[in-house]
Amino acid sequence: MSGKVSSAGVASEGHRYEAAESGSTRSKKADTKAGGSGREDWKPRNSDCEAVCRLLAEAHGGVPERRERLRGMTDDDDKGDDSGGLARECGEVELVLDGLVRTILSQHTSRANSIRSKLALDRRFGKGNYHAIRLASVPLISDTLQLARAGLAPSKAATIHALLNHIHQHIHPDLSLEFLRSLPDADAMQTLTSFKGVGPKTASCVMLFCLGRNFFPVDTHVFRITQALGWLPRPATRESAFRHLNQAIPDHLKYPLHMLIFQHAQRCPSCKRISSKPPDHQPLPNIVVPRIKANVGRKRSHIKSSPKPISITCPLAHLL
Ligand SMILES: [Zn+2]
Repeated sequence: MSGKVSSAGVASEGHRYEAAESGSTRSKKADTKAGGSGREDWKPRNSDCEAVCRLLAEAHGGVPERRERLRGMTDDDDKGDDSGGLARECGEVELVLDGLVRTILSQHTSRANSIRSKLALDRRFGKGNYHAIRLASVPLISDTLQLARAGLAPSKAATIHALLNHIHQHIHPDLSLEFLRSLPDADAMQTLTSFKGVGPKTASCVMLFCLGRNFFPVDTHVFRITQALGWLPRPATRESAFRHLNQAIPDHLKYPLHMLIFQHAQRCPSCKRISSKPPDHQPLPNIVVPRIKANVGRKRSHIKSSPKPISITCPLAHLL
């Protein structure tokens, strides 16, 4: 890893996800298929991760630093649309349940719609009043989400309603999921994915953003970029991609790489053209992305962008 990224304070926090399920099995198979000579035979290697992190950090304002937990959030915090909102919508919030619900709301929709959906629930049922949502009818929750243009409102309403009732009846009558903070990674992940409607992507977002664990969520954007980089075994599904990358990417790079790849995938016009199919990507020589002051050597609490665009060359062009 380059000195720049290391000195930026991307320190490992010591969490280690020992994938008890198929993740480790898949990677071991890939390793064996590659000759069985060791971890270095399959991508991404540590050096690949470090290089991409460094390139994206240089282009997008430095290495994102994970906040342990957000405290004292106000309604105003939800109105912003900077990439701190990305973390918030994906679970970097005070309560685990709040993070999980926000992450469900973020599925298959834009960040703005996701934030608007949460605000709509707060207005209708009271801020963070999940007891009221649990006692409400699914159609009422769905209507509330529909008006907020949540996307898949009926499905999300049913998922959230069933989730709250399940937690109330079988886990904690006060709807608390705070006990997850004290569980080992594998147990916390298993608990989250045991909830109906909560898959590896949603669960891994909660693990990364809310519980502060070293996980690597794979959403649509991360999938297509990592696939174009040749980091995924073929054929790859979102789930197999998560299992593979969660094992392959060093713990201390999971948060910054996820944030940087997500950000770059959305802002780089060239990379936005990459489909989720095997890449035939031809990056443009010059692209326009929002101007973000290069700041690789300094910590920052979260990514910020300004509206002024700047023309740069895609930093990943030679790798795709
Ligand atoms: Zn790009």
